[in-house]
Amino acid sequence: MSLCDDTLLCNFPKCRTKLNGFAWVTACSHVFCDQHGSGEFSRSPATCPACSSALSGKLDIVRTELSPSEEYKAMVLAGLRPDIILDITARALSFWSYQIHQEHMYQEYSLTRAEAQLKQMEKVLTQQNQCRELELTAMRGEITSLKKVMEDYKRKYSEVSERLMERNRQYQKLQGLYDSLRLRNMVVGAGEREVMSLPAHLEFNARGALQATPQRSPQFFSVGHDGDSRFFSCLEADGAKSFFQFSSPAKESGARFIKKQ
Ligand SMILES: [Zn+2]
Ligand SMILES: [Zn+2]
Repeated sequence: MSLCDDTLLCNFPKCRTKLNGFAWVTACSHVFCDQHGSGEFSRSPATCPACSSALSGKLDIVRTELSPSEEYKAMVLAGLRPDIILDITARALSFWSYQIHQEHMYQEYSLTRAEAQLKQMEKVLTQQNQCRELELTAMRGEITSLKKVMEDYKRKYSEVSERLMERNRQYQKLQGLYDSLRLRNMVVGAGEREVMSLPAHLEFNARGALQATPQRSPQFFSVGHDGDSRFFSCLEADGAKSFFQFSSPAKESGARFIKKQ
């Protein structure tokens, strides 16, 4: 209630209804709405719900009309001496100013409490913001370290890929060498055998047939296999094997071929 507002509020705890019509006024300078006044003051002994004062006197509680009629206003103080009239009005004004003062105190108290709550909320908000900032910083750090780890893995992957490609190139090279050596050995070995067993007039045909259907050569494969294993044992000592399980197709095919013999 502001000072310029000419309406009092019910003093019953948490009611604060604007008073109109009839109000209950007490000797302890409190005022209540018709609902709370009639409820509280019907009991005996009556006590003030605002300040717990005992209200046992005949005129300690008065139900008063807030907008009295013109007739009432004309007659209520009529016949009294001026000093009594002034005394009555002074007491009535004092009641009014007490109510206004109480309301002012209440508003100040509410304001202080709201400010305290605001400060507390600001404090909590600041703390929460600081926590979020810390979490964000930690997450950023984690992202940076994870990026670093990812870069490391990418680098390792490209290194291993390069090594794998190099190994494939070496394998292809060796395979070519192996094939050409095998072919040459077959031709030479078969030629020698045919020369020893065949008559001279069949030599040319036999050579041609052997070239068309090459056969195995045990001597060559032992050489070839040794070369193979030396080559791959040297490569497999490499740390790359732990990263990629690379099994040499050259070695496998070589082993299979040797078993057939
Ligand atoms: Zn009330
Ligand atoms: Zn009271």
